[in-house]
Amino acid sequence: MSFPLARRVAEVEPFLAMEVTERAIALEREGRSVIRLSVGEPDFPPPLEVVEACARALAAGETGYTDSRGLLELREAIVADHARRSGVRVDPERVLVTNGVSSAMLLVFALLVDEGDEVVLGTPHYPCYPNFVRVFGGRPVLVPTRAEDGFRLDPDAVRRAIGPRTRAIVVASPANPTGAVQDAATMRALASFGVPLVSDEIYDGLVYDGVRCSSALGLSDDAFVLDGFSKRYAMTGFRLGYAISPAPAARALQVLQQNLFICANRFVQHAGIAAFADGAKSLETMRAAYARRRTLLVEGLRRLGFGVPRMPDGAFYVFADARPFGAAAHDSHRFAFDLLERTGVAVTPGVDFGAAGEGFLRFSYAASEESLAEALKRLETALPRP
Ligand code: PLP
Repeated sequence: MSFPLARRVAEVEPFLAMEVTERAIALEREGRSVIRLSVGEPDFPPPLEVVEACARALAAGETGYTDSRGLLELREAIVADHARRSGVRVDPERVLVTNGVSSAMLLVFALLVDEGDEVVLGTPHYPCYPNFVRVFGGRPVLVPTRAEDGFRLDPDAVRRAIGPRTRAIVVASPANPTGAVQDAATMRALASFGVPLVSDEIYDGLVYDGVRCSSALGLSDDAFVLDGFSKRYAMTGFRLGYAISPAPAARALQVLQQNLFICANRFVQHAGIAAFADGAKSLETMRAAYARRRTLLVEGLRRLGFGVPRMPDGAFYVFADARPFGAAAHDSHRFAFDLLERTGVAVTPGVDFGAAGEGFLRFSYAASEESLAEALKRLETALPRP
């Protein structure tokens, strides 16, 4: 190449969940039988009403731009959905509809982070958070959590990580990759430190055993809520999400959206309206299936010798300690790719979720019970005795 790339490119690390999955797809193309437990994508179809609403919108010519903030009808439906889930009703002017939570995150970090600023987050963490921060010249400050504590955050440790350059605290509850849910007291504490709280609530509601989620909405005047349709409504490829921002930040976020994306896809926004209207039954069907699979997978992994000291509360992942399998497992990148080549089971290396995840593997149970049982069988033949 005869031209230099921007410095930030070197600072953004590959998203290993995608890399493993891309290798899995290549193996499938060669005719191998692969079980994909590597990517955070529901194996269920979106609700039929969502697909029909999207197709109807396309056929009716709903193909142009919308208001940069999104269709008012969708923003009002988002407000109503959050009022139902969290008990807090916000003005639709605070809602910005985006192309997935990923875009909402980009806009919020663009809003908050200058060169040299810091963002505090718990680790193991969703791999993209630090990369979003680094893209804007910021520095992620990681607060460790432990498997033995169910990967729950210690609010005191978060407080100690805050310094004069801290511009945000990021929390995801339920979390990817750990499934940890932060309780109401923790969420209240995180919102009380005088720093904007960015709360990624994309897995809200995907919880089991009566665990309850707590939204950051209404906890502080400075909370941002990021949420979307990918997980609860199995709409990953629609690319639809949103940010709910503090009222004084809404205009700046809108201006960023106007410039960087213009708006979210119009016909997809109609699909979002249908998801709220008709998606509740599908969501409950998925949740009940995930609850059964979680038990099957956790019990199976424990039987094989993986360390899973606590049941994950939510989302659809098990973050399992592979170190009982010996030195090879301490390099989770090599271990995961080697397992894929030998067994056709695709899982994500723990190191994707930060150095604190090294030695772990993330298993997604957004796969059928038959696939999970087959994956466990294949792993049993390939793994050394712990
Ligand atoms: N936030 C978390 C915690 C995720 O796990 C994911 C996807 O896996 C995203 C955000 C991205 O969501 P979207 O598909 O809405 O961009």
